[in-house]
Amino acid sequence: MTENAAPRYICFLCKRKFASAALLTKHKQLSELHRRNLTKQEEENQQRKEELRQAVAAVKRQVQEVDVALSKLETPEEALLTQRQNLEMKCRQAMSEYGQVQERLEISRHQQLCERQGDGAPAWSLSGAHETTLGRLLLSAGAASWQGNKDENEVGFDRRGAPCPGRSTHRGRHRV
Ligand SMILES: [Zn+2]
Repeated sequence: MTENAAPRYICFLCKRKFASAALLTKHKQLSELHRRNLTKQEEENQQRKEELRQAVAAVKRQVQEVDVALSKLETPEEALLTQRQNLEMKCRQAMSEYGQVQERLEISRHQQLCERQGDGAPAWSLSGAHETTLGRLLLSAGAASWQGNKDENEVGFDRRGAPCPGRSTHRGRHRV
């Protein structure tokens, strides 16, 4: 029961363990199962993205309808205001999830590119540590380009990634 001592080489996508980094790399480059799982994952992410895109559009239409209804009233109705708040929250949630799916897609594509280059690839693309760094870079790039004016969502990335001295981002979590 002392298996934990040895480093593990795991393909999380296929849920398989390998005896060495080289075997894991070979699996990622050559395995038919791995390729199928990648395709499946990509399709699922694409589908989820489309669902979320439609959900965001639908919620935005609802917000507009509520706005029209509100504009016709002399005194705003409490129920409509609440409905509007709820819709906006729903919209933010869907957009944030959309961003996450998009990032997963981009990271996965980038990793596939690195892995496909195989022998010709520079050593860094095969090292776990650097892959993580690249993943983070992509994460922040994806977040920045996609989210635009929503800094609320950025907080999560700052917290996970490098410390961001420009602003304090302790919300919740670390209560002393
Ligand atoms: Zn695999």
